[in-house]
Parts: sequence; C-alpha cells; structure tokens
Amino acid sequence: MNEDVLAAMGRVPRHLFMDSGFVNFSYTDKAFPIAAGQTISQPYTVAFQTELLEVKKHLKVLEIGTGSGYQTAVLLELGARVYTIERQRQLFLDAQKTLGPLNYKPIFFYGDGYVGLPAYKPFDRILITAAAPEIPQLLLNQLAVGGILVVPEGDKFGQKMVRVVREQEDHFERSEHGHFSFVPLLRGKNL
Ligand code: SAH
Repeated sequence: MNEDVLAAMGRVPRHLFMDSGFVNFSYTDKAFPIAAGQTISQPYTVAFQTELLEVKKHLKVLEIGTGSGYQTAVLLELGARVYTIERQRQLFLDAQKTLGPLNYKPIFFYGDGYVGLPAYKPFDRILITAAAPEIPQLLLNQLAVGGILVVPEGDKFGQKMVRVVREQEDHFERSEHGHFSFVPLLRGKNL
C-alpha cells in the first residue's frame, strides 16, 4: 500500500467515527454498522480505493456516500478539497458532528449522489463508496479530462473495483481491480 495513504489513515482516529457499540473494535480491519443500516468501510478497502484514486494536494475530489465521514477525513489528510454527498439525512448530520470538531472541513451535501454536483464540475477525482450496478453517466460527465473515478461496480451478489481514467474529453480508459463488498448506491434521498 502507498505510504502516504497509510500515513494519512494513521492520523485519523477511527474510533471517533464508529457507533458506540463497536468502538472497541475500531482498529480491527473490518467494516462495521453505522446509523441507517449503512457501514463504515473496512480500513483495507479505504486504503485500496484511496490508492487507486491517486489523491494529491489541492485536487478537487467528489465523494459519493459520506457515511461515517472516515473516508472523507482520509481524503482531507491527503490535502484534497473534498465535496461529499450523502443521501441518508441522519448520516449527513452525524458526519458533520464528527468531522467539525476534528477540524476536517469538506463541503457537505445532502442529496442523491447519482446525479453528482453538476454546478461544481469538473472534479479531478470522483470516489463512489457504495456499489453501483453501472457507472452513472452523469458522474463521468463531471470528471475533468485527466481525472480518475473509482467505483465498486455490481450488486449484492458480486462487485469489482473499477477505475476509469478520462484520457480525453470523449475517451475513458477502464480497468478492474478485484472483488469487494459494499452497501448499494441507491437513488433519491432518504429523510
Ligand atoms: N465512506 C463511508 C462509506 C459508507 S457506506 C464510510 O467509510 O463510512 C456508503 C454510503 O453511501 C452510505 O452511507 C449510503 O447511505 C451512501 N449512499 C448510497 N447511495 C447514495 C447516493 N445515491 N447518494 C449519496 N450517498 C449514497
């Protein structure tokens, strides 16, 4: 794993992102339940997606699925400017309460990540932290030329990690990077 990514993860106190019932397991390499039936990603998975994303200082990153905010914090530790969207209102609120006091300052949005943030495009990087049956075209449109999008593609029966590089305006290079298990990317938002 990339050393900058591991160092960034080492600076984020994962126990502050966990539900109280699981706090003793914060530094085990597993996913855990958070509010609204969602999960905080496994640290290995966070490291894997972050490495594929090639995050660098000052890059503009769109994250779909704020969840606990843990992955958001890792992106911020790497010096990215982060726009993060969550469709579950409770998680959108909780993540702000967690990240604020730690001085992590992403730009939070409550909405449907399927449509992204067209008003703020283009993004140098787009990270989807929930499984999509197919890569949303609206998000590909919001990727800068030279930009990278990372998404687990598939359903509950199987997902593979996909990386898309927008080589030119109309040319996207796709590569696959092994099997994972994420909660689904869902349409619309949830009160
Ligand atoms: N990176 C987060 C992962 C949380 S799980 C963490 O480590 O804590 C994935 C999250 O994606 C869930 O919180 C889920 O509510 C959210 N999600 C699913 N579909 C979405 C959509 N269309 N728009 C925004 N968020 C979505």
